[in-house]
Amino acid sequence: MASIIHPASPSESRPGRFGVYGGRYVPETLMAALLDLEHEYEAAKADAAFQAELKSLLADYAGRPTPLYFAKRLTETLDGAKIYLKREDLLHTGAHKINNSLGQGLLARRMGKKRIIAETGAGQHGVATASACALLGLECVVYMGDVDMERQELNVKRMRLLGAEVRGVSSGSRTLKDAISEAMRDWVTNVRTTYYLLGSALGAHPYPTMVRDFHRCIGREIKSQILEKEGRLPHAVVACVGGGSNAIGAFYEFIPERQVRLIGVEAGGRGTALGEHAARFEGGAPGVLQGTFSYVLQDEDGQIALTHSVSAGLDYASIGPEHAMLHDSGRAEYFSRTDAEALDAVKVLARTEGILPALESAHAVAEAIRMAPSLDSHEILVVNLSGRGDKDMGILARELKL
Ligand SMILES: *Cc1c(COP(=O)(O)O)cnc(C)c1O
Repeated sequence: MASIIHPASPSESRPGRFGVYGGRYVPETLMAALLDLEHEYEAAKADAAFQAELKSLLADYAGRPTPLYFAKRLTETLDGAKIYLKREDLLHTGAHKINNSLGQGLLARRMGKKRIIAETGAGQHGVATASACALLGLECVVYMGDVDMERQELNVKRMRLLGAEVRGVSSGSRTLKDAISEAMRDWVTNVRTTYYLLGSALGAHPYPTMVRDFHRCIGREIKSQILEKEGRLPHAVVACVGGGSNAIGAFYEFIPERQVRLIGVEAGGRGTALGEHAARFEGGAPGVLQGTFSYVLQDEDGQIALTHSVSAGLDYASIGPEHAMLHDSGRAEYFSRTDAEALDAVKVLARTEGILPALESAHAVAEAIRMAPSLDSHEILVVNLSGRGDKDMGILARELKL
């Protein structure tokens, strides 16, 4: 059980704070490890050799830069704004997650840690991390809820084939939240030898900042690519938000560009009742979960609520703390699209462009489908297509009766 703390007056000046959000709410036993990680990360960030190695792996192993593709037939079908897709789905292992797994994998090796632990929900972060560990010669243990292991059997096999050990978690709701708790328990026990490779812009400082930095390349590329293709900035950048890593990576470069709307899309699931969705900004309230202060879906007693989404990657009770700040300040706007709208968006994109998006990314496509018709034809929407849909074929076959 996770408990909720409401800090009376969190300091905004402490490192790792995003306004009042973020921070470092962990057991004493992890403080030294987090301080060490923060220190090592700052050093790596300033190290030209580290940056050069990461850049070369991102280019030649992962496939960066990814294309910014003008979706002509989708644009014509919607008859409004011009829609561009940032093709993170074309990266190695099928989603943006490899950016972060490679960055943190290199950092772990630099710190001399030979054992990597990670949590995974749908298995995408587990597969990206298992791949990075194989590449870098590191031992890899992935925690995954029993329910998710059953739902995502193919990814479990992928991780095993890549040499990772997958450990099932049978506590709580036996999904992502419980896998994170179990990974944190392992870290507390083995902190000297072990690096915890967290998969989203979540958790205690420095993770939200570090994970954002490893995904900043997405927004940097979008900016230079759209300026080259169109000679101007887009009306909006649209991205789905689970923990928030692909969205913050796509948004970050545009935060100072006040005319560009930043639009995050949460999972509206099956309905607005608590337990039926994962829309933290619609049904949640500030609280602490798994090391950070942010919006959390919780009941009146502060117990973490169950969540639902057709897309496992968006199915989490909290959200990265930087998004909480961007939400409260109004700099970014957050909407939710339902399971049904996401499924429909998969069909639309498949049939107009020949692209099968991941169900997570389909939430962002659904938002673009909603927005585009009411915008002028000279306005531009950039949708971050965070991943590809191959992993979702089982669910798609069932839900769309293929
Ligand atoms: C994991 C995942 C997400 C959600 O994670 P964020 O940290 O919010 O980006 C979104 N899309 C895909 C394809 C994913 O695999």
